[in-house]
Amino acid sequence: MSNKQKIKIVSLDSSNLTKNKLNTKNLFSFKEKENKIEAFERQAFLNVISEKLLPSQKEDLVKPTRVYADEKDILAIHWHPEFIPLDIIAQRITNTFPNATNKLIIPTQHNMLMSFNGYSGVEIDCFSPEFNRKIQLLLHFGKIDETKFKKLKLIIDHTFKYRSKQLFELLETLSDKPESVRILKAVENTGVSRSVVDFVRLQAKKLLIMINENIKILPPLAIKNKLVRNYLDEINKFYDERIIDLAQIFVKAVKEIVKSEFDNSYFYNTSEIIYEARLLNAGIIIPHPEQFWPVLLAGYDVDGYEVWNPQSREYTEFLVQVVLEQNKTRKFKARPILVFMGDDTHMGEKSRPMKVRDFFKSEREIGLQPAWEDPEIKKILIRAGYSKERIINEYRSRLDY
Ligand SMILES: [Zn+2]
Repeated sequence: MSNKQKIKIVSLDSSNLTKNKLNTKNLFSFKEKENKIEAFERQAFLNVISEKLLPSQKEDLVKPTRVYADEKDILAIHWHPEFIPLDIIAQRITNTFPNATNKLIIPTQHNMLMSFNGYSGVEIDCFSPEFNRKIQLLLHFGKIDETKFKKLKLIIDHTFKYRSKQLFELLETLSDKPESVRILKAVENTGVSRSVVDFVRLQAKKLLIMINENIKILPPLAIKNKLVRNYLDEINKFYDERIIDLAQIFVKAVKEIVKSEFDNSYFYNTSEIIYEARLLNAGIIIPHPEQFWPVLLAGYDVDGYEVWNPQSREYTEFLVQVVLEQNKTRKFKARPILVFMGDDTHMGEKSRPMKVRDFFKSEREIGLQPAWEDPEIKKILIRAGYSKERIINEYRSRLDY
């Protein structure tokens, strides 16, 4: 089949979206083609899992969208390189902040320890039985003593593998019968038609087959929920665009259900991870605490809270107040809780074709947290004696200790 040729699934004007009025003549025959993978689908799959960058992509990646020539301080303690090489990222950061002199730049890949210029970090999933929630922690390290690191390394590896399982649970759910509880719930939440559900089910089955066929060459980072989204975007050109859009909405709804029902008890407990990390002199930050509010009352031994994140700007002032209150009554007065801001940049997003980029995610920039300059927030921070420069210096000295 040529690239240009589009498979018309069904014409999706509103009258055709209702179950009984489907124009069946245009329907892709699911039964016949069930599980038969077309060459263009194999190619789409290989494109999606590929970690290779074209020279033109590399050139684009080192070019920031804006240059901040006045910025002296770079705090970058929450960001995800994904599969983008660190030397390219380093170049981009330098180009973004050409005159910065005070820098603390530590990658925090999900459940994968990575090092950059003498510092290492990870964003790890863990489980808090005290309030029955999965949460995340940012762990940062200065020099790492490999001999002492074995146990935490095993914990991080286990977490990575266990978290990756969610993709299989998502694909199995999507491949399930249209009458299954989760599918029915997602249909109810989104209102998509049966043809969309059938289309997604077929694609999910094919993805499972292709994953199994390629399991030996599959990069570990590719095994995540986003694979489904990226694959659908990749086959977009072969189908009526509208069915892909609806498929994405449906997949997202199913993903939310799978995520919320994922068995969290196989994650390590938050307090256990904090204990192990402290043995290695880690710095520990709770990112986006508003995603799991009770964490503020758990009394965990941490260095700070992230009071601003691109996806949660709403509670910054409140969170700063919480930090100030907690410091008043804190036992370890010498090590107050610090205020952090994380940009949560996902670098892989910047290498995706413009058309399918998640605009809000691809806009993020490592080291860029405009809230530091917000007049309201700045007022509270100054009153509390906090500035970005002070936070960088204080946290660095804790990690270098
Ligand atoms: Zn993150």
